[in-house]
Amino acid sequence: MTEEFQPSSLEQDIRQAVRALCARFPDAYWRGLDREKAYPEEFVKAMTEAGWLAILIPEEYGGGGMGVSAAAAVLEEVHRSGGNAAACHAQMYIMGTLLRHGSPEQKEYYLPRIASGELRLQAFGVTEPDAGSDTTRIRTRAERKGDRYIINGQKVFTSRAEHSDLLLLLARTSPYDPDKRARGLSTLLVDLREAVKHGLEIRPLETMMNHATTELFFDNVEIPAENLIGEEGQGFRYILDGMNAERILIAAECIGDGRWFIDRASNYGSTREVFGRAIGTNQGVQFPIAAAYAHVEAANLMCIKAAKMFEAGQPCGPEANMAKLLASEASWAAANACLDTHGGYGFATEYDVERKFRETRLYKIAPINNNLILAYLAHKVLGMPRSY
Ligand SMILES: Cc1cc2nc3c(=O)[nH]c(=O)nc-3n(C[C@H](O)[C@H](O)[C@H](O)COP(=O)(O)OP(=O)(O)OC[C@H]3O[C@@H](n4cnc5c(N)ncnc54)[C@H](O)[C@@H]3O)c2cc1C
Repeated sequence: MTEEFQPSSLEQDIRQAVRALCARFPDAYWRGLDREKAYPEEFVKAMTEAGWLAILIPEEYGGGGMGVSAAAAVLEEVHRSGGNAAACHAQMYIMGTLLRHGSPEQKEYYLPRIASGELRLQAFGVTEPDAGSDTTRIRTRAERKGDRYIINGQKVFTSRAEHSDLLLLLARTSPYDPDKRARGLSTLLVDLREAVKHGLEIRPLETMMNHATTELFFDNVEIPAENLIGEEGQGFRYILDGMNAERILIAAECIGDGRWFIDRASNYGSTREVFGRAIGTNQGVQFPIAAAYAHVEAANLMCIKAAKMFEAGQPCGPEANMAKLLASEASWAAANACLDTHGGYGFATEYDVERKFRETRLYKIAPINNNLILAYLAHKVLGMPRSY
C-alpha cells in the first residue's frame, strides 16, 4: 500500500484501542438496548472516559487535539464492531461551531467541561416540521429582550436531547428575506437542564431504530444573551462551516457498517450449507457481497481524500459530500447483500443483521438526504441549473 493510503501508526493505535473498548459492548448489549429502545449509557460513558468523544477538542482545552482522520477512525471502529456511534457522535462535530465561532470566554468555559464529560453537548436543533431540508425556512424565533433571548417554536428529530446538557440551536433572529435567504439565522447554546424547567417540552419520537430522537416545543424559553455564538444573523454560515467534518464522520460510520456487513455475509456464506455446498459458492450469493465490498472500499478512498483535504485546510465540500453519498449507498448495498445471504435468519434479531440494516438505512436520509447532495454536486460542481 502506498504511504498515502497507509494508516499512520497513531491511527492504528487508535483503532486498536477503540476495538478493545468496543469488545466490552458485544452484540447482545446493542440487541438488548434495541429491544428496550434504551440509550447506551454505559457505552457513552466509556467513550467519554477514554477521551474519544473529545478527540477533536484542542489540547489546550483538555481534548485530544487530533484531526478528523483520527475521529473518523474512532467512529468507523465503533460501527465495524457492530455498535452504533449515533448515540454520541454529534458531540464531535457540534463542538466545532463553538470552537470556530465561540468567544474566548465561551471556549474557556465550555470546551474543558465538554472534554472532561462534565457537560454533554450532544443535541443539535436544526430540522423543523415545516422547513424540512430547506433550512433557511425554519421558523423557531429567538427574540432579543435586554440581556435575554426569548425562544418560541418547534424542532423535530432533535436527537439525544434527553441525554444532553446543552443544545446547539439554530433559530431565526430576524424575518426571512427571500433575497438574502441565509441571513437572519443565529446559533445559540441552550442549557437543556434549565430550559426544561422553564417552557421547553421534550417529546420522544419513536423511529424504526433505537435513536433517542425527539421533538422540542419552545414556549417563551429564556436564555442569557451571552449564549449567542458568534455574530447574530450569521448562524446559517456557521452551521454550513461544520458540515464537511460532519459528512466525513458520517461516511466513516457507513464504512464501518459496510465492513461489518461484508464480514458477516462472507463468513455466513462460506459456512452455511444448502443443497450440499456452501451457499457462498453460488455466484448469485457471492457477487453482491463482492460488489458491495468494492463499493465500500471505493467510498473509503473518497473519505480518506476528503479528510486529508480537510486537515490541510483546503476547501473539500465536494469530496466530503461525495464521501457521505458513496459511503451511505455502499453500506446500504452491503446491508442488502448481508440480509439476502442470511435468508430467513437475516430477519431473526439474534443475528443482528436486521438491527444494523435498520441503523445504516438512516444515513441515506440524515443528517442530509442524498438527493440534496446530488443537487449540490449538480449545481455547485457541475454548474447545472438550480432546482431550488
Ligand atoms: C433518526 C433521525 C435523526 C435525526 N437527527 C437530527 C438531529 O439531531 N438534528 C436535526 O436538526 N435534524 C435531525 N434529523 C433530521 C434530518 O436531518 C432530516 O430528516 C433530513 O435532513 C431530511 O429532512 P426531512 O425529513 O424534512 O425531509 P424533506 O426535506 O421533507 O424531504 C423528503 C424527501 O424529499 C426529497 N427532496 C426534498 N427536496 C428535494 C429537492 N429539492 N430535490 C430532490 N429531492 C428533494 C428528499 O430527498 C427526501 O427524500 C434526523 C432525522 C432522523 C430520521
